Amino acid sequence: MLRLLALFHSILASPIVKRQDFSDNTAILLQGGTFITYNETTASLEVINGSMLIINDTIVEIGANLPNLPPHIEIVNVTGRIITPGFVDTHRHGWQTAFRTQGEDLTLGRYFYTFANFGAAAQIFDAEDVYIGQLMGLYEAIDAGVTSIVDHAHHTWSKETAQAGLQASIDSGNRVWWCYAVQPVPIQSDPYVLDKNTTSWQLAQIAEMVTNRPLTGDRVNIGLAYDQLNLPEEEVASIFEFVKKQNLSLITTHYLGGVFQGEFHSIEVLDKYRLLDIDTPIIVSHASYITPQEIELLRKANQYISITSESEMHYGHGHPYSYSIQDQGSLGIDTHFTFSSDIITQMRMNMQTTRLTMYKMTIEQGHLPSNTGMTVNQAFLMGTRNGGLALRRDDIGVLKVVFDTNRPGLLGWKDAVAAIVLHANTGDIEHVIVDGKFRKRDRRLVDVDWITSQDRFLRTIPSASSEFIAHGVYSGRDAIPHATPIFFSLGGGKVTKVGEIFI
Ligand SMILES: [Zn+2]
Repeated sequence: MLRLLALFHSILASPIVKRQDFSDNTAILLQGGTFITYNETTASLEVINGSMLIINDTIVEIGANLPNLPPHIEIVNVTGRIITPGFVDTHRHGWQTAFRTQGEDLTLGRYFYTFANFGAAAQIFDAEDVYIGQLMGLYEAIDAGVTSIVDHAHHTWSKETAQAGLQASIDSGNRVWWCYAVQPVPIQSDPYVLDKNTTSWQLAQIAEMVTNRPLTGDRVNIGLAYDQLNLPEEEVASIFEFVKKQNLSLITTHYLGGVFQGEFHSIEVLDKYRLLDIDTPIIVSHASYITPQEIELLRKANQYISITSESEMHYGHGHPYSYSIQDQGSLGIDTHFTFSSDIITQMRMNMQTTRLTMYKMTIEQGHLPSNTGMTVNQAFLMGTRNGGLALRRDDIGVLKVVFDTNRPGLLGWKDAVAAIVLHANTGDIEHVIVDGKFRKRDRRLVDVDWITSQDRFLRTIPSASSEFIAHGVYSGRDAIPHATPIFFSLGGGKVTKVGEIFI
């Protein structure tokens, strides 16, 4: 079996932490594995055979021989496994689990007015629907070894639905940057009406949440999701001022550019307003049509984008320029109800599409490519350490996942990184550890009443989902100009649409 152990809050390059008295603490020794670590000195991945000591929520040491082990230590045999960091997802909408398999042929325009925050869910979903969808979405992430998540929480239609999403994030046991979306709320579908006077109560609730935040250490952080950069400068600046005042952990924003956003350039606007080069990390999701100037601005301000490879292909905004800013790039999932929700797949897709782009550019100039354009090590770092850097957390995304080489797809592996990026899948993940606690062990989620949660999900979601489907598409979709793309026929020219296979 391929086994994957995701550990968080790890300290890799400086593995020795103060040797104080750990006798009363929780200690775990992962003994005899192959660890993919990151060497800060050489700025590259490093593979170490040996053991890893975790005390409480911290990786204390990795090496061949670890003397001075504390008493009462739990020893876990990881012989034959590959151990890597937990994966980092810098863009997800966790609440949308209820829509699973309903968006298989969805375009972006249709998504906006059906499944997104501006769709019917705003009126149909109550706090319970949001809670259980978010909880299940985050359980799914743990199951897939995704242990640090930026949640663009755009289920903030009411105080109750907003609170439910935060609570589910806390209850999930995962590490989440839960980013409250300050946004207008749809209040009527026909004709379509948006309530745009929502900012004051939404900001007031964020302030309240910051004050009342339950004690989760830094496992759940409150951030801000904000897509209204087209508003007047004073208004945008006041939101950023609020973020600073409340000491929120992160700002995240969707940005497409090009035809998808009327040539509006979010990063240039932020720079113009002097809101880009700030102390708070900003993650720009997609940045599909990012300009060369914006790439330089991000580098200068040390801000990152989140490339959601599969989502960007599925919905059509693509990632035509991301290959040139992967040094300030991380990976995200986006709408996990629609396609793969694991970062291994995103690493693979991002690497292969980058390779294809680079090959194409070389071949179009009349040359044969002499290298692949992107290595598996780079792909691996995109799904791990770069996510941590996007959050300005150099202790996130470094180290830890375990692979058992007895799986047919891994038998004979020599390069541990290539084994994960090109051959692993989420079915192979055996253990996941967050903050020194097993959240998945022996392929089962830990500290989760799965039967109750499953019943709760299946009891709640079908009725909301049916009501949602019956509600249909909002008329607001007509505001977006569309053209019909060319369809590929699978019927030798006899059919004019995708979806029917004649073999
Ligand atoms: Zn999104």
